[in-house]
Amino acid sequence: MTAPTELLEAAAAGFRSRFNQEPDGIWSAPGRVNLIGEHTDYNGGFVLPFAIDRRTVVALRLRDDRIVRVASSFAKEAVEISLDELIPENLHGWSAYPLGVAWALGQFGADLGTPPVANSGKADGPSAPGREPVGALDGQTAEFPELATGSGRGFEAYIESDVPVGAGLSSSAAIESAVGVALNDCWELGFDRRTLARVGQLAENRVVGAPTGIMDQSASLLGERDAAVFLDCRDLASEVVPLGFDEAGLELLIIDTKVDHAHATGGYGDRRRSCEAGAAALGVELLRDVSVDDLPRAAELLDEETFRRVRHVVTEDQRVLDTVHTLREGGPRAIGPLLDASHVSMRDDFEISVPELDVAVDAARAGGAIGARMTGGGFGGSAIALTPHAQIPAVTNAVLTAFAERGFRAPELFVVHAADGARREK
Ligand code: ADP
Ligand code: MG
Repeated sequence: MTAPTELLEAAAAGFRSRFNQEPDGIWSAPGRVNLIGEHTDYNGGFVLPFAIDRRTVVALRLRDDRIVRVASSFAKEAVEISLDELIPENLHGWSAYPLGVAWALGQFGADLGTPPVANSGKADGPSAPGREPVGALDGQTAEFPELATGSGRGFEAYIESDVPVGAGLSSSAAIESAVGVALNDCWELGFDRRTLARVGQLAENRVVGAPTGIMDQSASLLGERDAAVFLDCRDLASEVVPLGFDEAGLELLIIDTKVDHAHATGGYGDRRRSCEAGAAALGVELLRDVSVDDLPRAAELLDEETFRRVRHVVTEDQRVLDTVHTLREGGPRAIGPLLDASHVSMRDDFEISVPELDVAVDAARAGGAIGARMTGGGFGGSAIALTPHAQIPAVTNAVLTAFAERGFRAPELFVVHAADGARREK
């Protein structure tokens, strides 16, 4: 699926009006929805997200100096910084996402071209800590690439998007992945997609400060049309698993509760710490190494709350494996009960649901969905409902009515399709 032409045109037009130039190119990356596998990624386990047909588009042009300027349809002001100042402490607000990716590329080995002090051959900039300039040996005169490749050159970027923000569809990974592929091309870095996913994660962890796993960026970079990305978060091995929703007459309905999950960074970190504590008490490095059969022993060793947190992660890993197996053997209509069980586990064991998500899931099922669950990190954001095409109006109605009855803010419902991952558009 191509990013809608309007989105590409809006990005080009926005670029021209901000920077009075033509962009060198246009790149895009999708948001993602997680079909199943929640809070398993940082436990080294399994996830099954797919890239969606909502995209973030980046128009970008290299400069001949070291100035970086980023602007977005979101933000009134362009943010300007020199590559020499590009360290996490200097990056704030929305621009921490695109600028954080530029910084993180340096951490992964991109030479951000710290210029030599005249004739001394010494690097004097902070842009790539721990790295030596190209050709530097034991303090001999460094041969800088003189901007031979694109890296080391500043850039201007303008960002447009139709990925809803804060809905649990990872607008953050979309912007990171779009900027990642754009700079990878323009700076001629040659990083593969798995590396770019880790770059995006590093930016999110270290620059934005959100302790998220590798799932979102992987989905945004590795997604394929009509397929999910089955990802082993321990070794980052991935496999594309056909979904077959179309042939089965199914749609994936997103129910955006409009409950902002941004206030929940504390809850996310807290769950992460519980998982680490559980793993330590069970003598494993990651909860991935605990199986469903180990749960009785875990119940004896752990306090009640930590046990429930661990049980969610362990059973959720198994549900991801079962979902992949079921998709291959039984087709998508057979995965409904796994989605339902995932929701119950997040609601009761991991305790990351909110009333709006529970109501959305219950109403969707009552309206005819064959399976439904909250998706994303929790505490708000969206639920998903796997729904026969003909039942979409009934499910939509059931959810809107249930929300109105409880006096909740009206949710937004829309269908998403599995789409291709990040790519160059022009
Ligand atoms: P999500 O669930 O959508 O990923 P996050 O809180 O992780 O929510 O990321 C959303 C943040 O990412 C926004 O508040 C903004 O700072 C940044 N962001 C996402 N998309 C854009 C965009 N198109 N332009 C500018 N900033 C963006
Ligand atoms: Mg995010």
